[in-house]
Order: sequence, then structure tokens, then C-alpha cells
Amino acid sequence: LVSREIYAQDTVVQVGNTPVGSEQFTIMAGPCAIESEDQLLETARYVKQAGATVLRGGAFKPRTSPYSFQGLGVEGLKIMHQVGKETGLDTITELMDVNDLDDVARYISAIQIGARNMQNYTLLKAVGETQKPVLLKRGLSATIEELLLAAEYIVASGNPNVMICERGIRTFETATRNTLDLNAVAFIKERSHLPVIVDPSHGTGVRTLVSPMAKAAVACGADGVIIECHRSPKESVSDAAQALSPQDFHTLMQQLAPFVTAS
Ligand code: PEP
Ligand code: MN
Repeated sequence: LVSREIYAQDTVVQVGNTPVGSEQFTIMAGPCAIESEDQLLETARYVKQAGATVLRGGAFKPRTSPYSFQGLGVEGLKIMHQVGKETGLDTITELMDVNDLDDVARYISAIQIGARNMQNYTLLKAVGETQKPVLLKRGLSATIEELLLAAEYIVASGNPNVMICERGIRTFETATRNTLDLNAVAFIKERSHLPVIVDPSHGTGVRTLVSPMAKAAVACGADGVIIECHRSPKESVSDAAQALSPQDFHTLMQQLAPFVTAS
């Protein structure tokens, strides 16, 4: 169902007021984790002003260490709901547990399935039984075939509103956090009608590499990017090394502006 042999035309997934996969290049941005209402609102205001239309931020965080900040949970969803209403931004957050699906669906515009859950088939079927837009992130070591089959699970369960996300994979290379596989973007755009979003933040893990790879995402035919930023990157409770400052984000948005506005 996700193949171009079945549907030749590009699918446009509507995330609130944002059409993803249309002529317009979509900018999703925000902190790795929702830390407080004040933090999210301030971030939302500047990403919106710079040109983002979708606010990202995790309330349920899949942390490598059980001792790291795990997210604000439902409290974070409520903050994001409030901030979305206040700023007019559409919202996206990660769902890790089927038990939280109703709350995420109630408060947030789109559901993110994280890299670690790309092959959590129970979760894929559960979001497939809703009509919520889903951003499906590529697993840490998933092949493109496995990624497309994970997307197929969601669509086959009845939800056609799927966006694929290339967020970097594990390779022998350790200089960067992950290896952003832009081959996958061009390949998936050729084989599938689903929109493809690039995550240059997790794809590199390095602040200074986020902007060049966001521009590369435009060049290889992606439909948008999802970028982590923080009002004070050094103080970010998670993924601090890859967070853009408001100034860096603004500069990047100015460079992407010709592509962001539909012509
Ligand atoms: C995130 O978006 O903050 C995240 C945890 O991403 P990934 O699932 O790609 O690691
Ligand atoms: Mn993150």
C-alpha cells in the first residue's frame, strides 16, 4: 500500500493546518524534551517567527539510561496542547506506549513513533487504527525495506496518514552520532508515495552539522525537516550537543526560506 506501484501520486498528510508532502517544504522544530511551559512557549514563539509550522517536543522520552530525565508525561502533553493553541502551531510528540495513545491523540496533532519502536508492531497497529498523522522514524539499524514494511503495518491497519523519517542509522562511523542516510530519502521518494522528513539533529548529533544537512535534505527531495532547538542549548536536559540556539535556527530558516514558501 505504501508503494508507488499502488498509488503513483504523492500523498499529502495533513498535520493540523500543515500539509506535509505538498509543494511546500515543512519545518518541524522544537526542543528534544518538553521541560516546562515557559521553555516550550518561548521556543514555540521563536520557531514560529522563524518559519516553522509544527512544534516538536517529547513528553515521553526513550532515554538510553533509566536514570536520565524520562519526560513530563501527560503533564507535558497538556503543556504542548496549551502552547499549540496559544501560538497556532501544529504539534508532534513521541508515543512510546499504547496506554498513552488516547492522551496523545487528544492533546497533539501528530504522533511520532521513535526509532526504538519502529518495529514495535503492537504500537504500529494501534496507531494504524486511528486516523492521526504518524511520523515513523527509521530504526537505529533498520534497512529501508524494514522501514517501508513498518509503514505498511500502519497503512494496512487503516491509517493512510503516514510520514517517513530518516534520522540516521548506526554504521562503523563514530565521528558523528549516526550516519544520516540521504540515499534513503531519494530511494524512498522513488519507491513510495509517502512524504519523507529528514531529522538532521539525530542524524548527526552535532550542532554545527545540523544546518548543512538540513540544506542537503532540500537538495535530495525531502518534504521537510524536523529540528531540535533550545533557548539555551547547553542547558537542554536531553540531546544538548545537537540543539540549535534561536540564533542558529533563525539563520538556517533564512537560508531555507526560498524552499519553505510555496511558489
Ligand atoms: C527524538 O525525536 O527526540 C528522538 C528520541 O528521536 P529518535 O527516535 O529518532 O531517536
Ligand atoms: Mn532528541
